[in-house]
Amino acid sequence: MIVLKFGGTSVQNAEMIDKALDIATSHLERAPVLVSSAMARVTDGLVEITKAATAGNEERAREILAQQRAHHFAVAEESLSGPRLERARVRLDHCFAELSSLVKGLSLLRECTPRSSDAILSFGEILSTTLVALRAEERGIETELLDARDFVRTDDHFTSALPLFEPTNRLAREQVKPKPGKLIVTQGFIGRTESGATSTLGRGGSDYSATIIGAALGAEEVQIWTDVNGIMTSDPRVVRDARTIDRISYNEAAELAYFGAKVVHPSTIQPAVETGIPVLVMNTGDPSGPGTAIVERADGKGLRAIAGKKGITLIHVASTRMLNAYGFLSRIFATFEKHRTPVDLIATSEVSVSMTIDNSQSLSTIVRELQEIGRVGVEEELAIICLVGQDLWKEPAFIARVFGALKDTPIRMVSLGSSDINLSLVVPGKMLNTAIQILHGEFF
Ligand code: ASP
Ligand code: MG
Repeated sequence: MIVLKFGGTSVQNAEMIDKALDIATSHLERAPVLVSSAMARVTDGLVEITKAATAGNEERAREILAQQRAHHFAVAEESLSGPRLERARVRLDHCFAELSSLVKGLSLLRECTPRSSDAILSFGEILSTTLVALRAEERGIETELLDARDFVRTDDHFTSALPLFEPTNRLAREQVKPKPGKLIVTQGFIGRTESGATSTLGRGGSDYSATIIGAALGAEEVQIWTDVNGIMTSDPRVVRDARTIDRISYNEAAELAYFGAKVVHPSTIQPAVETGIPVLVMNTGDPSGPGTAIVERADGKGLRAIAGKKGITLIHVASTRMLNAYGFLSRIFATFEKHRTPVDLIATSEVSVSMTIDNSQSLSTIVRELQEIGRVGVEEELAIICLVGQDLWKEPAFIARVFGALKDTPIRMVSLGSSDINLSLVVPGKMLNTAIQILHGEFF
């Protein structure tokens, strides 16, 4: 069996739902389970409704609710007819009546617990899957709509609940019975706690649902259908001839995610990683176009992608007391820990340490405390360039080519060897795009 997950933009209107169903039906013989997000912007709208109602602005909440209702009804009317349209109306009405009483409750209480928030947010996926499943039936596809809450068990950390794998795997195997020729439709993002309350896996959690379900059922593949052609060799807004990467390893993809290749979040594909299931990232708007396979081992070495991140601050701490002393680094890191500031890249010499951070919220306090340890220097408005690829350092000429290509770019710091899949460089922020373009031209 396979899992096909469609993101919000892939089901945002009747036309896109049909595109998604064209894709799903082309895989009908592979016993597909279709996992859907809420329609684009619906979850955001539900968040806004929740906030407005809690702030006592019931009118605003009802206004957004009415827009969402109108949009879902319009899609139903466009894609369904006869008794199926009637069924859709009844179900949509039921959902919006429930949402309406939840809004009433919030505006009376002026309080929204994480649990109530999840109850409200879960409707986005309930609504979208209702329409997707009915449209599939309308097109004559044998369809089964399952409520993901019946088999995705989570803990009770509402708004970012963690799946409980043991009961989830068991329940999914008992209840989800894919077979060739049949389409199963279910929701991403939502689950249920052991005590029976609706929970969500956190924003963007539908990818996670897809790999959880895929891993539970031993899927041969999890396909993530989105609105871009997979993972690119670089940001296409920066590099005009950036192209789709065919195959990338889980580790390489995780490295890129930090640098804003937000196509898939590493933690959401963890269940696939653990069970060795390949994850394909494809574009619903361009189904025959290129996509990326994220796999355990991507063949070949060498550079896979170049990513960049601005807004980096470099902090140096130097002290002659550091020479042959111990405990120095731990005191430095304790300062960052105390202020909940992650350190990204580090370089040390015998008497100094340089570190980068991308969250400079507590910078002035951190600097003040570090001054008790040594001389502190700060450089702001820097950027990190990250070159990702398996075993880059094994090719000595590679490093020479990187530095040769960047001969006119002052490189402030280098990090190589902390993982065998990336070389990171710190450069002035204003030179980031040019440096990425130069490197992309050199290697791709
Ligand atoms: N609908 C949810 C959200 O917008 C989950 C998802 O799309 O993955 O965060
Ligand atoms: Mg999403």
